Amino acid sequence: MTSHHHGRFAPSPTGRLHLGNLRTALIAWLHARSHGGRFSLRVDDLDPDRARPEHERRQIADLAAIGIDFDGDPTRQSTRLDRYREALVQLASDDRTYPCFCSRAEVLAAASAPHDSDGVEAPYPGTCARLSSVESARRVAAGDPHCVRVRARGQRIGFDDLLLGHVEAVVDDFIVRRRDGVPAYNLASPIDESDLEIDEVLRGADLASTTPRQLWIARELRLRVPTFAHVPLVVGHDGERLAKRNGARNLDELGAAGMSAEGVRQLLVASLGDAVTADGFDLSQLPRAPWRVPSIA
Ligand code: GLU
Repeated sequence: MTSHHHGRFAPSPTGRLHLGNLRTALIAWLHARSHGGRFSLRVDDLDPDRARPEHERRQIADLAAIGIDFDGDPTRQSTRLDRYREALVQLASDDRTYPCFCSRAEVLAAASAPHDSDGVEAPYPGTCARLSSVESARRVAAGDPHCVRVRARGQRIGFDDLLLGHVEAVVDDFIVRRRDGVPAYNLASPIDESDLEIDEVLRGADLASTTPRQLWIARELRLRVPTFAHVPLVVGHDGERLAKRNGARNLDELGAAGMSAEGVRQLLVASLGDAVTADGFDLSQLPRAPWRVPSIA
């Protein structure tokens, strides 16, 4: 019997996993496993400045310590650069992308929108979309540093999230290839989901705003599209954004405060409330309010 619940966890190997990351991983794992689904690890290691193999090893060990296992070998995005480049070539045909020469400061100034530090890009005002193809080709040939953006033409894309309900957004001209040549997360992620035959993407609510962008990629490249569930955020014990000072502890720090890995697992399971049932896991019963980490640790 094939289960249509192939799930995944996709951490960036840039540091230790904290309570919030571990909780998201646990929910994704419980959801897949309770339906007899496979569970895969994708390693988002595209950023050469920040990704480290030792972080990946620690993350896998920490996940194992709280009972989360994976099928097969991890898929490292750094091994799939040819696939992303091929997709970039495909998108560049038919004028679906364009080079953008704006600096980050220029984009921020033009957007003048409040944007937070969670890595979600500010919407791009489209300055370079209006350059003539002759002018952009001239600047590319001259070696002007540039990233590559999609020409989204202000389309709205929506999806039905298993937890948030209907989510819809105007897709902006987001980045698919960074200035340093590295393929962007919003390009790589939907390609991986499709190639690895992922059925369910379960991740933090802070990433819900990136999903319409990823669905734009999926549509343009005719990719297979998973279902999405964005889980409520974890906040610090003071109710503020989770940070080091208010509870973003990793397993070693929790251990030093007297909590074993088994204790952490029990704490996380208890935080899932009625979603943990006598015979498994029911995502629809997940508490919808942000989970506030207790100040014990
Ligand atoms: N690696 C990214 C992160 O950790 C993306 C996660 C995802 O798509 O699930 O925030």
